[in-house]
Amino acid sequence: MASEFLENVLKTLKRGVEVGGFPEELYTMLSKPERILIVKIPVRMDNGKLVVFEGYRVQHNSALGPYKGGIRFHPEVTLEDDIALATLMTLKNSLGGIPYGGGKGAVRVNPKELSMRELEQLSRGYARAIAPLIGEFKDIPAPDVNTNPQIMAWMVDELSKLAGRNVPGTFTAKPVELWGNPVREYATGFGAAVAAREAAEVYLGGIEGKRVAIQGFGNTGQWHAYWLSKMGAKIVAISDTSGTVYDPNGIDVELAMKVKNETKKVINYPKGEKINDPKAALYVDADILGPDAMENQITLENVDKIKAKIIVEGANGPTTPEAEEKLYKKGAIVVPDFLANAGGVIMSYLEWVENIQWYYWGEEETRQKLENIMKNNFHKVNKKYQDMKSEKPEVTMRDAALVLSLERIYKAMKVRGWL
Ligand code: GLU
Repeated sequence: MASEFLENVLKTLKRGVEVGGFPEELYTMLSKPERILIVKIPVRMDNGKLVVFEGYRVQHNSALGPYKGGIRFHPEVTLEDDIALATLMTLKNSLGGIPYGGGKGAVRVNPKELSMRELEQLSRGYARAIAPLIGEFKDIPAPDVNTNPQIMAWMVDELSKLAGRNVPGTFTAKPVELWGNPVREYATGFGAAVAAREAAEVYLGGIEGKRVAIQGFGNTGQWHAYWLSKMGAKIVAISDTSGTVYDPNGIDVELAMKVKNETKKVINYPKGEKINDPKAALYVDADILGPDAMENQITLENVDKIKAKIIVEGANGPTTPEAEEKLYKKGAIVVPDFLANAGGVIMSYLEWVENIQWYYWGEEETRQKLENIMKNNFHKVNKKYQDMKSEKPEVTMRDAALVLSLERIYKAMKVRGWL
């Protein structure tokens, strides 16, 4: 019995294959990853005890290029969740128009309970364990939930030692001091803000003054809120595991980021109403909603409480397929994860291009490139959505994105002789 998350991703994939009229063989090929590595990572803890952590690297599909996708550190992550996430990366990278297949890594750990030394040992240990499978032209990891540029720095250092030379292109989203690009830090949230702005342009008559609620105030949520407020929107709710802050007059995002980064809890923000429920941000009166936390947040149980007209999925898989159907019935539109949150991996691609050429653009130039790609991708999908809808009113924007993404993978697999 697959995890609920994997089941939902497979359902989505199947729907894409059917709506696009692709042969069933395409589903057969994409419903299983090409390769899975399960590793154990022994770490000597500060108290002298040896703890062995379990980790994975799933290589889902390589038709379009090297595998690409982040590494998640989470206490509840399972191998099946990792397979689901790797599958989403295949779809995201194809839709993004970048030359990568999909992969994802995970370690079952709560990194918040580790000291810096333990976290470094774990990160280096995981990089060593997956070293035989990864490399700048084989499989290029990056951060995901609970991992960050410092962790990438330890990992790229470990890989460089094994290679006997510096290999900057083996990981992306590295610190600026170590071949990173300053845009990568905020790229996922920035990209999601561009997607939200373009969607608001088409469906709400513009972004100026539109009310936005953001669920999840990690890297994606913070920068999603920050850039949307810079673009003229009003952020009315933000949340993390500590609870929700609601202020219909608008939240000062920079102050909220400062509070979050200093105290770890968004609820310490000094103004607005505090609601003792992290999910309350999903239900407030808003025009645009960014579910930017984790998968399976908007479900049949709570979908009726959602008031926003446009849902921009900053997280991977936050809306279940059944809940999405209900949202469309209510007249809402969901900008799907593999379009909306692709800014992270698209920026990873730009960083990787810099790394393998040892040539670097400045921040402004890079951000402009990223913005153009996100904008074009949104409109490409939206056009397909409008075209498909005129024939079949029940299609979703996710269906249109799936068809475009699967088309590119299908053609590559076909010409390679895999299908
Ligand atoms: N973890 C991010 C994602 O889910 C980024 C992956 C990457 O940059 O490779 O898209």
